[in-house]
Amino acid sequence: MYTEGSEFTVSLTLPAIFFGHGNPMNALLRNSYTEGWKSFGEKTPRPRAILSISAHWFLPGTGVTIGTAPRTLHDFGGFPPELFAVRYPAPGDPELARRVQALLAPLPVDADDSWGLDHGTWSVLKHAYPDADIPVVQLRINATMPPAFHFELGRKLAELRDEGVLIMGSGNLVHNLRTYAWGRQLTGPYDWAAEFEEEAKQMMLAGDFRPLVDYEKLGRNALLSVPTPEHYLPLLYVLATSRNGERISFPVQGVDGGSISMLSVQAGGSF
Ligand code: ZN
Repeated sequence: MYTEGSEFTVSLTLPAIFFGHGNPMNALLRNSYTEGWKSFGEKTPRPRAILSISAHWFLPGTGVTIGTAPRTLHDFGGFPPELFAVRYPAPGDPELARRVQALLAPLPVDADDSWGLDHGTWSVLKHAYPDADIPVVQLRINATMPPAFHFELGRKLAELRDEGVLIMGSGNLVHNLRTYAWGRQLTGPYDWAAEFEEEAKQMMLAGDFRPLVDYEKLGRNALLSVPTPEHYLPLLYVLATSRNGERISFPVQGVDGGSISMLSVQAGGSF
């Protein structure tokens, strides 16, 4: 960024962040997770735009939202009317969408005008940026491709962090709904969930991302924690944008219902 009249050219690299979004009701709640998301928004230099990679847009083919006024999608069932009434009217950013296409070329990236912002994106942004005045583009996760493909895409997108764009992943490091304690009281996370989260944290702190890309080889704890890939893959995009030696931190922690990790993972930006 160059400011006329200033002596120096100031370039600011934004952090990249993975949010554990958990229950969609977090959009309406105030708890330690949502307070952490709010605090991130307050502490981080204001982005010019946000590129969101959400677990809930997981279909064949890589794509980006191209519209100027993305819809708020209520992509869930069985929740109260108040949640269906939530709107997150952030503008789109076709210019950023085209920049993403250019960075990922020659990979075909659909310009998609049918999707909008799903709850993986807005349930968090409602707290991080409540005014909904920062343009948001979503990236469709190609459901047909292996983890290494997604990590590579993250690498190619990394330079957006130098262009005022906040790269945000939204999913959950541990996401096992089959074992989730709906309405039951648990004293803490399942052992396998706690162990996998701890193992993953140590690897991230060491900058050792390769085993996390090949997570299917990490054994039983990983397979129970990541029974399906969609909530995990957004983390790989975020890790892939990390530069050598960059600080990794965990601004939000906790496990919900025994088997949903609410861990946030931040690359860079110790503001
Ligand atoms: Zn989700």
